[in-house]
Amino acid sequence: PQAGHRETELPAAPAAPLLPVIGAGTPVPLVTGERRPYANLDYAASAPPLRAVADHVDEILPYYASVHRGAGYASQVSTRVYEGARETVRRFVGARGDDAVVFTRHTTDSLNLLARCLPDDGEVVVLDIEHHADLLPWRSHRVVEAAATLERTLSRLETELARRPAALLAVTGASNVTGEQLPLGLLTRIAHRNGARIVVDGAQLVPHRRIDLVASQVDYLAFSGHKLYAPWGAGVLVGRSDWLDEAEPYLAGGGAVREVAVDRVAWAAAPARHEAGSPNVLGVAALARACQVLAALPEGCLEAHEDALRRRLVGGLLRVPGVEVHRLWPDSASAVGVVAFDVAGHDPGAVAAYLSAEHGVGVRDGRFCAHPLAARLGRPEGTVRASVGAGTTAADVDRLVAAVEGLVRDGA
Ligand code: PLP
Repeated sequence: PQAGHRETELPAAPAAPLLPVIGAGTPVPLVTGERRPYANLDYAASAPPLRAVADHVDEILPYYASVHRGAGYASQVSTRVYEGARETVRRFVGARGDDAVVFTRHTTDSLNLLARCLPDDGEVVVLDIEHHADLLPWRSHRVVEAAATLERTLSRLETELARRPAALLAVTGASNVTGEQLPLGLLTRIAHRNGARIVVDGAQLVPHRRIDLVASQVDYLAFSGHKLYAPWGAGVLVGRSDWLDEAEPYLAGGGAVREVAVDRVAWAAAPARHEAGSPNVLGVAALARACQVLAALPEGCLEAHEDALRRRLVGGLLRVPGVEVHRLWPDSASAVGVVAFDVAGHDPGAVAAYLSAEHGVGVRDGRFCAHPLAARLGRPEGTVRASVGAGTTAADVDRLVAAVEGLVRDGA
C-alpha cells in the first residue's frame, strides 16, 4: 500500500523513547469526543518530566526543610541535596573550579541577573535572532542583524565588536525557532580576541547537547530546569565569579549577607550573594537529577536519538505539498530537534489547533518570544513549531506528518 511504501522512504527513527517521561501517551480528548494518546511535540516550550526526576523529588520530599539554617535532620538532608546539586551542575557543564553556580528561577532570570552584574554597565552585543530573554534584559546593548549566511553573520559580529568595545557577547546556543546551533567555539574566540566575554543562552542547547565550559572557554551559561525534563521551577547561571562577586545582590535579604548591622551590611560572595530568600530546594534537586540522568547516557546517544527524529520529521514534512521548513542559514552545520514550518494557505494558529483537536498532537504556533527572528524569516505573524526530545518516538513524528498530509489533502 502507498502509505507503507512512503513510510519506508523516510529516514529511520527510534520506535521507543530514549528515556521514560511522564505523560507520554496519556489519552487526550479530540473534537469528536474520541480520546487518543497524546503526541507531545512541544518539548522546546517545556519538556515533560523524566520519570527518574519525578521519582527523585518523591524520594526527597519527606526530608524537605529550609536549607542552611536548620539543625534538624531534614534540614541537614535538604542542605546536602541543595549544595550537592551545585556540584552536579558544575560537573554537568564542565565548569571551571572557580566558576559560580547561582540557582535562579529560569533562563530569563539568569540572564537578568547577569545583566545586573555587568561592570560599569558595560555594553552587550547581541544578534537579532535571540529569544527575548537574551535580547531585553541588557541595559545597554547593540543589536547586530543576522546575515544571509552564518559565516557572514559571524564576520558582522566580529566587525561590531572590533568597532567599539563591548563587555559581553550574548548568543543563543541553539535557536528556539529553527533549532540551528551556533558555533560556540568560534563565537568565544571572536568575543575574547575583541576583549569581550560571552554568555550562552543554553535554554534550547543544554537539553539536547553537552557543553563544556572549560573546553569551549564560554564565560557564562544560563539554562532552565523546565526545558531539561525538570519542571519544578529552578534555573541556573554558571560562570566567572568576579563580576558576580562584585555586583550589587540581585535580591537583598536573608541568605545573601555575611554580617548586618542597622547601619551597614557586608554582602556574601556569589552564589549566596544572589540567592537571598528561601531557595527552591525541590526545583534545584530536580534540575540536578536531570543533569545526572543525561550525563549517564552513553556519549552521543541523545543526539543520535533526536537527530533521527528530526530527519524523519523534516523529511516527512517536506514531502507534503505546500509545506516549508524554515532555517536561518544555508551553512549552519547542525540543529537540535526544533523545527519551524508553515503550510501554504493555512494560518499557523489554525494548523496548531487542528493538530490538537483532530489528532491529539501538541505543537506550538506563533512567534516564540522572538519577534525580530519571525520578521527575519519573513513570517511576522509566526509559524508552527514542532520539537522532540528524549521521550519522543517515530510514531509521534509520523502522526504529525500524517495529520499535515491530511490537512493539505482534505483542506480541513
Ligand atoms: N532562551 C531560549 C532560547 C528559549 O527558548 C527560552 C524559552 O522558550 C528562553 C530563553 C526563556 O526560558 P525561560 O522561560 O525558562 O526563562
